[in-house]
Amino acid sequence: MTPAPPERTIRVVTLYDDVMNVYADRGNLIALEARAAEHGVGVEVQSVSLGDPLPEDADLVLIGGGQDREQRRVADELAVRGPVLRAWAAAGTAMLAVCGGFQLFGRWYRDASGTELPGAGVFDVTTIAPGPGAARCIGDILANVEIEGVGEVVGFENHGGRTYLGPGGRPFARVEYGRGNNGEDGTEGAIFQNAVGTYLHGSLLPKNPALLDWLIAAALRHRYGEGSSQALIEPRPAPYAERAHAASAAVARRRSPKFEPVVK
Ligand code: GLN
Repeated sequence: MTPAPPERTIRVVTLYDDVMNVYADRGNLIALEARAAEHGVGVEVQSVSLGDPLPEDADLVLIGGGQDREQRRVADELAVRGPVLRAWAAAGTAMLAVCGGFQLFGRWYRDASGTELPGAGVFDVTTIAPGPGAARCIGDILANVEIEGVGEVVGFENHGGRTYLGPGGRPFARVEYGRGNNGEDGTEGAIFQNAVGTYLHGSLLPKNPALLDWLIAAALRHRYGEGSSQALIEPRPAPYAERAHAASAAVARRRSPKFEPVVK
């Protein structure tokens, strides 16, 4: 007998997944689909790349990382889509923008060649790549998320760009091991309503089940309304993901520098 179709679904938009997808960021979508199924939530995925129209609405938007070359290909179009993406974020659409995608969800990114790429402006952050001679921020990272109940996240960062929060920017997490936004102030990523920007690859979601569940719950609230019974997910164990998380956290604690703020 085939299982009954899920009674609730979330509409997921992946942005430029054929261009912006380094370090297995596509794994975020695979983990999302698998975990949503465990919660009895269907996932409708629409892949939007260069030249494709955006749908009317979305409950969750995913964009992965890319190097400067890939970012140059998508930046202008993404900036044109900025007003729609900002309106979605303001209305509670969940988002996960990783690394190069996070940089382009900020106000602008000045890349290693000095070219300023416009951003979508979902987050009040700006990013500057100090240039080819400067050290990159590379390694395992562990950070404590500023969202209640999510706890610590673990991942792998590899970026030249240094990101700084503007006056309206809030950090997604505080770095405990690794470098984060800029290696100086201890902030990692940014959060605006249910939109998260972060430097963590990994893939991130397969080994951070608390964050994954939070994104699914946020997407359901956007789809069905705060307080609706269809928007609720029950806590359920994620034994493989929790083991992957614990193993990665141990690696980050062992291999990465404990974060110390830079005093200038
Ligand atoms: N090009 C950006 C940087 O190096 C983003 C890199 C990435 O997405 N891994 O800062």
